[in-house]
Amino acid sequence: MSIDAGDLAQLLADLEPIGRSEQGTTRLAWTAEHEAAAEWFREAAARVGLRPARDPAGNLWACPEAPAPWWAIGSHLDSVREGGRYDGALGVVAGFAIAARSELPLAVVAFADEEGARFNTPTFGSRALTGTLDVGDVLTRVDESGVTLRDAMRGAGVDPDRLSEAPTWLDRLRGLLELHIDQSRDVAERAGPAAVVRGLAARMRVQVELRGAADHAGTTRRPVRRDALLAAARLIIRADELAGPEMVATAGRILVEPNAPTTVPARVRAWLDARASRPAEVDAWWAGVRAAADDLRASTGVDVRTSVASTNRGTVFDPDVRRALTRAAERSGLPAAEVVCFAGHDAGVIAPRRPAGMVLVRNPTGVSHAPGEDVSLEDAAAAARVVRSAVEALA
Ligand SMILES: [Zn+2]
Repeated sequence: MSIDAGDLAQLLADLEPIGRSEQGTTRLAWTAEHEAAAEWFREAAARVGLRPARDPAGNLWACPEAPAPWWAIGSHLDSVREGGRYDGALGVVAGFAIAARSELPLAVVAFADEEGARFNTPTFGSRALTGTLDVGDVLTRVDESGVTLRDAMRGAGVDPDRLSEAPTWLDRLRGLLELHIDQSRDVAERAGPAAVVRGLAARMRVQVELRGAADHAGTTRRPVRRDALLAAARLIIRADELAGPEMVATAGRILVEPNAPTTVPARVRAWLDARASRPAEVDAWWAGVRAAADDLRASTGVDVRTSVASTNRGTVFDPDVRRALTRAAERSGLPAAEVVCFAGHDAGVIAPRRPAGMVLVRNPTGVSHAPGEDVSLEDAAAAARVVRSAVEALA
């Protein structure tokens, strides 16, 4: 039997109200809202004959009776604050719809704390599973109310002292497919109801420190000023200009000292986030930013220092998985366009360790992480049929 929009709507009906208000969906990791979603997961698993389990990282598994390893379909049930109803949830719901309609022994996975909205720990569960999470570092982090991640996990019934055992569960996974709402308009503009993801964007976070001199905003003539914020503004504009057509650069955080209305700014710290479909584009951008910093240092007398805070070369998903998804899309008459996804996802964390792939569902407005996030369940069902057909070919 084929998966249709009604299957997804039925599964979403009990999940959507959890953490939902007029302001959007808020299901932060390790909270009562998330635990209510975990209870929904266990019930959904039982309904399709899968055995619910939770690994030491708090990832939720719905396991078939057949011996592991299994192919899994999954995403996440946590959200950002006041987010949308489909980000993550759609992929988990699709997993259950596919498992219910497939002869294969498929697992469904909901990764813990994908958004990292509470403790700044994005893709927590998949990183713990692949052994790429710094366990010692994360457990002492605190949320806005001063609760440590260690205590939050314990409150949700997950033993933080066993977190480092999570990688033993990776043996159960043969491969992962993730269906997710597009968080841009790329799929709507370039493909049809759904698109296969070639990979996740390369990214770099750069920290910039500028030191000028505090001075009187009225009496200090322009030739003798060393205005750190003016230099930062020029650098930010240059960083944007240097971004190629398949690239974005954002200065999302900036701290100014002394931050006084009548004083020439003396010190600025800023963070630049750059993402591109290919790492070479990020490399070229970074070379340009450093050259711009050198020019500014020479022309303004402001000391400009740039350093890489973090970098990720991006992910190219397994070619066999992409081929299987593309062929499945072609078989169902969908345009088989590939896109590069500029957001992070659990499938990207799993990809270096297991065959993994993603399908994005068309999002006509591109709105995500906001209550206006919307998708057609007809489109989502079409994407789920592609995932089901692909996983059956892969298995
Ligand atoms: Zn998501």
